[in-house]
Amino acid sequence: MRPELSTLIRLQGIDLEIRKLGLEKAELPERLNALKELMTEKETEIAELKDKLADLRTRKTEVEDELELESERLKKSQQKMSSVKNSREYQALSKEIEEIKKSNKAREDEILQLDEEIDELKKQVKEKNKEVEKLKKEASAEEKNISRAEKDIDAKIAALTAERDEVAKDVKPELMARYRFLAEKRAGIVVAAVDEGVCSVCNMNIPPQMYNELLRDEKLLFCPSCQRIIYALKA
Ligand SMILES: [Zn+2]
Repeated sequence: MRPELSTLIRLQGIDLEIRKLGLEKAELPERLNALKELMTEKETEIAELKDKLADLRTRKTEVEDELELESERLKKSQQKMSSVKNSREYQALSKEIEEIKKSNKAREDEILQLDEEIDELKKQVKEKNKEVEKLKKEASAEEKNISRAEKDIDAKIAALTAERDEVAKDVKPELMARYRFLAEKRAGIVVAAVDEGVCSVCNMNIPPQMYNELLRDEKLLFCPSCQRIIYALKA
């Protein structure tokens, strides 16, 4: 194999490793983002529950006020009972008293019902707040993990980059330019082995004449299909 080719293969190996580490680094915040999304969801749910809770409390105050007023009215009607003059008046007043009592009973029932609903909602808010707290702790632990992993990856990338620059010194500028161009277009795979006349990366045939030339290993050749720098895989 031509020496510039083995240098490029080494360079490609380092670059692919750097590329892989870069992708790993980019994926690090995924779990944290999912946790944050979940947290936002829960906080929206809590806000909705609190709105409902406020509505129920408003309704409860309304019913309590009504109950107070109607209880006053009931007291007055009951007092009037002692001064009724005839049975028609008595019947009318009795009916009124019964109606107020019936309505007030419904009000009392509604207040009990509202109290139950309020308690239930308060319980739900408390539970969801606990879940948010738990998520916050998880997110903060995850943030620490990420920053640790990022530092780790950055250190690896720095070491690989230094190694890469050292290796790249041996590559002629023209070839380096070609390498960079192909690396960008071909996801970092620049050098391709040719196995029995077939490019192992793009799987296209190399013309027989070119393949013979490749076997003689006299100069750098490029795959006519994918333009990668090729070398013959020796059996
Ligand atoms: Zn090819």
